[in-house]
Amino acid sequence: MIPAKPVSVGLRGHLLHFLSDPSLTGSEALQSFSDGVLLISKGLISAVGPYAELSEAFHACDSQYHYPGRFILPGFIDTHTHFAQTDIVASPSPSLLHWLEHYTFPEESEFARTEHCHEVAHFFISELLRQGTTTASIFGTVHAYSCDALFQAAHEYDMRIIAGKVLMDQNCPKTLRDSARGGIEESQALIKKWHGQARLRYSVTPRFIPTSSAEQLRLAANLYHDYPDLHLQSHVAENADEVAWVKRLYPSARSYLEVYRDFGLLGARATYAHCIWFDDDDRTLMANTRTAAAFCPTSNLFLGSGLFDYRAARAAHMIVGLATDIGGGTSFSMLRTMHEAYKVAQLTGLTLTPEDCFYLATLGGARALGLDQFVGNFQVGKEADCVVLNPESTALTTRRFQKTKNLSEQLFVMMMLGDDRMIEQTHIQGSPKLDQD
Ligand SMILES: [Zn+2]
Repeated sequence: MIPAKPVSVGLRGHLLHFLSDPSLTGSEALQSFSDGVLLISKGLISAVGPYAELSEAFHACDSQYHYPGRFILPGFIDTHTHFAQTDIVASPSPSLLHWLEHYTFPEESEFARTEHCHEVAHFFISELLRQGTTTASIFGTVHAYSCDALFQAAHEYDMRIIAGKVLMDQNCPKTLRDSARGGIEESQALIKKWHGQARLRYSVTPRFIPTSSAEQLRLAANLYHDYPDLHLQSHVAENADEVAWVKRLYPSARSYLEVYRDFGLLGARATYAHCIWFDDDDRTLMANTRTAAAFCPTSNLFLGSGLFDYRAARAAHMIVGLATDIGGGTSFSMLRTMHEAYKVAQLTGLTLTPEDCFYLATLGGARALGLDQFVGNFQVGKEADCVVLNPESTALTTRRFQKTKNLSEQLFVMMMLGDDRMIEQTHIQGSPKLDQD
């Protein structure tokens, strides 16, 4: 039983959100109120500003939450993850294709059992909330029921998520194979049932080029273009062996990404994880088609896949979001993911600012997923999903925080030293979702 949403909610604390991309607009991008108030009416933001101006309205709210010394940010947005890989996080493997064969495919086979789908979906959604992640673009398995279970679990918390059943009709174990047409029919049934219901959206989900026949890829593109607001998610150019495999399958294609282009699988609301083994023509193609990249630093480091070249992506005006890629990724935490993204960028000749990283994890992620009309910042009218960060979550962060000289340094300390312990509360449409000790 979901308790009814309070009509009006007020949140008070150090409010912080982005109005634009700080790499383009500099300090104007960030709006911050050190003693700020967020007013929420029926789950939507109705006002944001300093407490001095909104104190009367704050105290008139049906529910009031005061977080002194805490930061209140828009909820984190994870642009690429796999709920069915929750239980294989931290499985050692030399590389992607070995990982798929030895861990991913056996684990995903377990999702033929409906009770397993429910149990993992509930854990996964709870873990997102515990980490301050309020929106994610999520892969199911090939089993349509895996998506039903995931959507049900997210719906219980009123979350805005995107998900899809994996399309996979070749080059995988028989138990995980659909058929070109059957996979599309199952996707259509899921779209009818879930897409646009409450805050849920469907994403057409071919795993990657090698595991779908040409017919399945063609049908997937048709399905994606049949609806004006459907999403699409897949993987591209993650690992050198994978790129070579695609070259053998499509020898006349100039690049891996161009195989997707030739099938009609690039465009707005399409998100591709990794994008490591790209050249500048690929980056320009991503930008020109408004296709987004999901930057998955912990996964890319863990599987030794390579370094995402964010400097080159930025130069090409690619749309980029940040992602955990559980279970190739090693953490559900978007703070940890920012931390690793910073290090990867360092190795590719780009020093990201903390503002860049928090933008990527909030408004940047919303833009990458094509959801920025709903979430990503505190603009009036948007859905009020927020995370409350406690900078004094450990003895070390408490000590280090006392030495910080400005807001930028405080953000840097939080993303370099923070983890799930820093998440004090997660609000979905104004309502707190974490039990307090
Ligand atoms: Zn992935």
